[in-house]
Amino acid sequence: MPEGPEIRRAADALAKAVAGEPLVRAWFAPPALKRYEAKLAGRRIEAITPHGKALLTRFDNGLTLYSHNQLYGVWRVANAGERPVTGRSLRVALETARKAILLYSATDIEMWPTAQVHEHPFLRRLGPDALDTALDAVTVEARLRDPRFARRRLGALLLDQAFVAGLGNYLRVEILWEAGLDHDRRPCDLDDTERAMLAEAILDLPRRSYRTRGRRGAGHLQDTPFRFRAYERAGEACPRCQSPIEKSMVASRPFYACPRCQR
Ligand SMILES: [Zn+2]
Repeated sequence: MPEGPEIRRAADALAKAVAGEPLVRAWFAPPALKRYEAKLAGRRIEAITPHGKALLTRFDNGLTLYSHNQLYGVWRVANAGERPVTGRSLRVALETARKAILLYSATDIEMWPTAQVHEHPFLRRLGPDALDTALDAVTVEARLRDPRFARRRLGALLLDQAFVAGLGNYLRVEILWEAGLDHDRRPCDLDDTERAMLAEAILDLPRRSYRTRGRRGAGHLQDTPFRFRAYERAGEACPRCQSPIEKSMVASRPFYACPRCQR
């Protein structure tokens, strides 16, 4: 299951292929969307941004395509006119003179007025996105104090997209390692320093992963590259205290932590 940073990089790749250039063709499989094909010809894609696991493709005519891949949907970039051979069923094709972005197998596809798309039921349930640069530590700390979240255990809370969107399993593991916290703790049990460190880690790790994970050199030299400290490192030495990292299950997902320095 991809997490926020991976989803955002996939969205960046889609935008890089087609954003800013006039669409030569827009094609939709769902009958309800057919009427938008003509309206989108000649228009441009302004932005492609993830919100949790949903993707918003914003056009320059006041419309936004909402798509959610659920388990099977997948976006691909192809050259204009090209359709990769695949057993998947094509649902959306947005094509410029150069490139096409193609959505396969997704069932959750809707067109919304851009001004109202934030009212989409799925988007309304999402918390702020960890990768949204407008989100700051003060807001995250306020959410940790919010009665809706304060009594939840951190191991489950960090996976809840209503708390902060874009965090998945590897980020949950790494955030708790970075903050030195046990998954059983609750926000209401933390002291001010612990809460501040947790808020910092909730913002820093997804952003660092987005900027540097799996990338080399150029342009990001000021960054500490994102590296797993605990995730999938069972039996290896904790980089902070050298105790062996332990694996367990927390909220039905594999979990990794240092039994000594995460308290
Ligand atoms: Zn440790």
